[in-house]
Amino acid sequence: MDIVETERTRHRRLREQGSHDREDLLAILRQGFVAHLGVTVDGVPMVLPTVFGLDPAGDVVYFHGSVASRSMLAGPETTVCLTVTHVDGLVLARSVFEHGVNYRSAMLYGVPRPVTDDAEKLAGLRVLTEHITPGQWDYVRQPSRKELAATALLALSTVEASVKIRTGPPTDADGPDGDLRVWAGVRPVAPAWGPLVADPELGAGIAVPDHLRAEPHIR
Ligand SMILES: Cc1cc2nc3c(=O)[nH]c(=O)nc-3n(C[C@H](O)[C@H](O)[C@H](O)COP(=O)(O)OP(=O)(O)OC[C@H]3O[C@@H](n4cnc5c(N)ncnc54)[C@H](O)[C@@H]3O)c2cc1C
Repeated sequence: MDIVETERTRHRRLREQGSHDREDLLAILRQGFVAHLGVTVDGVPMVLPTVFGLDPAGDVVYFHGSVASRSMLAGPETTVCLTVTHVDGLVLARSVFEHGVNYRSAMLYGVPRPVTDDAEKLAGLRVLTEHITPGQWDYVRQPSRKELAATALLALSTVEASVKIRTGPPTDADGPDGDLRVWAGVRPVAPAWGPLVADPELGAGIAVPDHLRAEPHIR
């Protein structure tokens, strides 16, 4: 499904960084697994860090929580905004004003759909789990009926979305500050996974499964 540009997602400021390209959006969603969910609860905005999973077709993101969670209860009734951000570097300019961040970020808007059918819920939770750690759903014990009932799962369409991407050096070399004898450039940053650390309580002889030996697909 293509991105539909709306009044909400129309870029106004820093427009050169804006994109409504579906491939840009999907790349950002595929490389992340933590989002910030903005939701209004009792008239007050709450922004909650939450994990998410993108369905393989790229049409829906799933996020979950306790059925008792206020954000989960508020979400289905209201428009939410889900943001995913990757920070790629600090932009160190010649002036304080021109400092910035190299980044890729995506914002999704919509009214999330509560997934209530058990089979669809299991499929959605599988998507979420497999998005983060492929191979893990079939490897570990799957949710019991009771656990499923305690879990709220929401599905949010990726149709109403906006993307912003900033890359490259500071932009003040061409202006009056370009002559300043000040070092300018970028300090790149990239998150890295560490080696696996076994649970100290792990039973003897349990080997790391192949899917966890593989290089994580999320950076
Ligand atoms: C790590 C990080 C740090 C940032 N720090 C600053 C800062 O200190 N000061 C600052 O002014 N800006 C910062 N930005 C950029 C900021 O997110 C906004 O893009 C910018 O402030 C312009 O927003 P706006 O609402 O004024 O205008 P617009 O860009 O015109 O907003 C219109 C629409 O564009 C979309 N949009 C806006 N920003 C983003 C985004 N980042 N990603 C995806 N869609 C977006 C939304 O749908 C929004 O409704 C930062 C971004 C990141 C990722």
